[in-house]
Amino acid sequence: MLLELADELAGDLASEEVEALQNVLRARRKGLHLLRASDRLFAALASVASLAEPERAILEKSRGQQVQKKALFRAVQRRVLVSRDTGPSLERDGGRETAIVPLRHFAPFSVADCSFVLGEGEPDARMAVRMARYFAHTRGLERLRLPHHVAVGGGGGTSVQLRLHRERPCFCIAVVDSDRAAPGCEEGRTAVEARGEVDDAEPWVALHVLDCRAMENTLPRGLMEEAYGDDHQKRRPLDQMERFDEGGALARYRDYSDFKHGTRLKWVLEHPEEDARRFWLAPEAPLTAAPSVDEDCLAQRACPKGKDCTCDVAYGFGQPLLKKCVDAAEKMPDQELEELLCQKTRRHWCALGRTVFSWVCGTGETRV
Ligand SMILES: [Zn+2]
Repeated sequence: MLLELADELAGDLASEEVEALQNVLRARRKGLHLLRASDRLFAALASVASLAEPERAILEKSRGQQVQKKALFRAVQRRVLVSRDTGPSLERDGGRETAIVPLRHFAPFSVADCSFVLGEGEPDARMAVRMARYFAHTRGLERLRLPHHVAVGGGGGTSVQLRLHRERPCFCIAVVDSDRAAPGCEEGRTAVEARGEVDDAEPWVALHVLDCRAMENTLPRGLMEEAYGDDHQKRRPLDQMERFDEGGALARYRDYSDFKHGTRLKWVLEHPEEDARRFWLAPEAPLTAAPSVDEDCLAQRACPKGKDCTCDVAYGFGQPLLKKCVDAAEKMPDQELEELLCQKTRRHWCALGRTVFSWVCGTGETRV
């Protein structure tokens, strides 16, 4: 996280505030967060008599390094302004957010520890961090480290975990699937419940609900190839993915198909939301472009074979899809990943990557 010390912190500090300052500086020394302040403030704080020597040295080191932080300042979606008395609160300015948190909030060290990245599953959280690293690459910030803890909610447990991190308190960014069946459709229960756990008055936790249906929709086909390339059983779904790519006959459905379990025509036809049926049955992009969707089933708006119908709009890769892809993505250099992303997937990588990057940006340990 980028922590910025407000100029108003110059002047006498209460003992609790000195302890909090010590924690912030210790976190900076360990590289858990990045620190920004005016040179004048760094100088003023270095004269606080009760500061330990390593922390004083960090203040000295941080002076004169401000210029390098401009690119970083532009890149982050949320930063934390450490105030004397204002906040906790959240201010929004276009796509940017400033969390205002009083210095004394950092009095327990756990508050200044590195951020948690909370996902519905472990692969979700790891993929979010991989996207943050990709985002850093697109901004020329790849030299930064991304210190973080991974936390796992497991579907309905995600909102409970988010609440625990909010109450503890500690920095936490939660990432959840929208589970939406189509644009404009209802979000799933996990997203709705998680939304209820974030509050501008406790801006150390936040939530990113994916714009597409699930994390699997953010995966470029080339990454799936990398993950399953030698698995002959996955040849059919991999080949079919081409239809979902840019210019493909099913591109419209890429963000909302279920690539884990597969999407059946029956699910589309029986969907309770009218917006979903209208989206999936749009005449300009007929589902018969999927090789196994039967023209008669589509014309009759019913699959006569019921649950035995084999009208697959999208084949399912199976439960381990995301895990296999994140394993591959973590081994892959950013340059290579960049080439795999298409217009649709890059959009998600940049949006989620930017958010998560803001929470996990840090540096290596500084020797003083
Ligand atoms: Zn059918």
